[in-house]
Amino acid sequence: MELNERADVDTSQIEDRRGGGGGGGGGGGFPIPIPTSGGGIVGLIVTLIAVLVGGGFGVNAITGDDAPADNGAIEQSCDAADKLQKLDCRNALYVNSIQSWWAKRLPESFGEQYQPAPTVFFDQAVQTGCGAADSGVGPFYCPADHKVFIDLTFYQVLADQLGAKGEFAQPYVLAHEYGHHVQSLIGTEADMRRQQERDPDNANELSVKLELQADCYAGAWAKNATQTADADGDPIFKSITDQDIKEGLDTAAAIGDDTLQKQAGQEVNPDGFTHGTSAQRQQWFRTGYDTGDPKACNTFGS
Ligand SMILES: [Zn+2]
Repeated sequence: MELNERADVDTSQIEDRRGGGGGGGGGGGFPIPIPTSGGGIVGLIVTLIAVLVGGGFGVNAITGDDAPADNGAIEQSCDAADKLQKLDCRNALYVNSIQSWWAKRLPESFGEQYQPAPTVFFDQAVQTGCGAADSGVGPFYCPADHKVFIDLTFYQVLADQLGAKGEFAQPYVLAHEYGHHVQSLIGTEADMRRQQERDPDNANELSVKLELQADCYAGAWAKNATQTADADGDPIFKSITDQDIKEGLDTAAAIGDDTLQKQAGQEVNPDGFTHGTSAQRQQWFRTGYDTGDPKACNTFGS
């Protein structure tokens, strides 16, 4: 995968609520702090919870120590010549690409207008319309305030503890969360919650279908991502290769329910599945990628 250095980063699609990012008044361009060592088993369990509740619910009942949004630093930093070296600027570009694709594709495929949703970058803890959350929950989408939330240090956890080391894990994760935004916009998510209430015995199975659809949407975006451009028409990606798609599939496998249960030293228990097995997650990412068509992501009809 190669990003285009000529593409402008639209940081208006980001809410920077990192403590060090906003308000600090430093001259922009600060590096993202990356933890030097993982948290061992505790870290893994935290990650497990993270990935399992990735749909945006079950956020921890903690009181978030939350920084206010301030985009001053990131705006300046992502305007600099070395922006593609910066994790936050690259992630902002991924968000730009994903939203630009859906803005065009959602009306074509589903007859609905796309409503932009910001991604909130936070450190450690954040207040959301779905309650207070800490980084332990991993990236998530909150349907109540239509925002994606991510502590970017999650990628280090993904690489160190779950073995998903490729850069393409990052756009895959974001595209999955924006898939949940689309499900919220077109009513799939609300339908699914109603079905869960009517049929609580199948609540997890329904959740799996919602999650696999978000994986499939991520694949459909990946297929079309090289067609996306910034406001001036400069392409955001120069290339996406088979290696990137392999990294996307590896990530999907790394966060499958069965794999996570095994990682945690548990027996594989299908009753506890909420996101789908590694094989299912790969299969639906692949379906999205092969067709490039979000309408092919009919996980509820299969
Ligand atoms: Zn999800």
